[in-house]
Amino acid sequence: MGRLDGKVALITGGARGMGASHAKAFVAEGAKVVITDVLTEEGEKTAQALGDHCVFFKHDVTSEEEWKDIVHKTEEHFGPISVLVNNAGIVIQEPLESLSLENYRKVIDINQVGVFLGMKSVLPSMKKADKGSIINISSISGMVGQAMTLAYNASKFAVRGMTKSAAVELGPLGIRVNSIHPGIIKTPMTQTPELEAVLEQMLATIPLGRQAEPEEVSALCVFLASDESSYSSGSEFIIDGGMIAG
Ligand code: NDP
Repeated sequence: MGRLDGKVALITGGARGMGASHAKAFVAEGAKVVITDVLTEEGEKTAQALGDHCVFFKHDVTSEEEWKDIVHKTEEHFGPISVLVNNAGIVIQEPLESLSLENYRKVIDINQVGVFLGMKSVLPSMKKADKGSIINISSISGMVGQAMTLAYNASKFAVRGMTKSAAVELGPLGIRVNSIHPGIIKTPMTQTPELEAVLEQMLATIPLGRQAEPEEVSALCVFLASDESSYSSGSEFIIDGGMIAG
């Protein structure tokens, strides 16, 4: 028996990185999974590798119309949605002084508005499923400030706040809402020349002394998607090797 038997999950930004890892873990635990992303080729490849219990649809999380379409397609394919992982996100590293309004809005649109639209759009489907779990991927950047990532911090703090409001509002419907706050995880987002350059300094600030593999975050996602976490809602799950504990 899988820990996610009978669950239908929708994971955004699932073509690669952590989203793809969550999809693999969910399918292994018995869930039926729709992954969505703006990266069509990678998304289709990821879904194909996971077999019949995973499909990919192209989807930009900033579009309300596309959200409606994705919810409809997911229901047609697998039935009402019981788990939503709002995972899609981008980071733009730039000093405040030169950060353009356009870039600020781009980060807010994808990381923050995308999460709002996701929670709003799946609600009718989760009501049909009779209960649900929404997992919003924030970051330690939603817990503490950092230089060079002001827009990212703003969006991830907002995700943390929205999670709490939604948890209070949706609890009576049997829908749980939690946020996950990863530290430094090995994905294409962090494998950049800029980050490579400062990685050694960053590792020195992590008590466990290393980056995490995406699968370590997926294990937490499986827990929050499953009924094992039946009494967790409105909570922040930090997974950072102790980085912001000190
Ligand atoms: P990746 O860049 O590997 O994956 C994110 C995926 O989201 C990409 O495929 C990306 O496509 C896609 N995406 C971007 N914009 C949109 C959009 N408008 N609609 C749909 N999909 C989109 O990143 P990670 O796996 O590392 O990150 C996953 C989540 O975890 C993000 O929310 C991130 O902020 C968060 N996080 C990551 C950490 C890390 O250390 N890696 C730490 C803390 C939080 P494209 O390449 O075109 O942008």
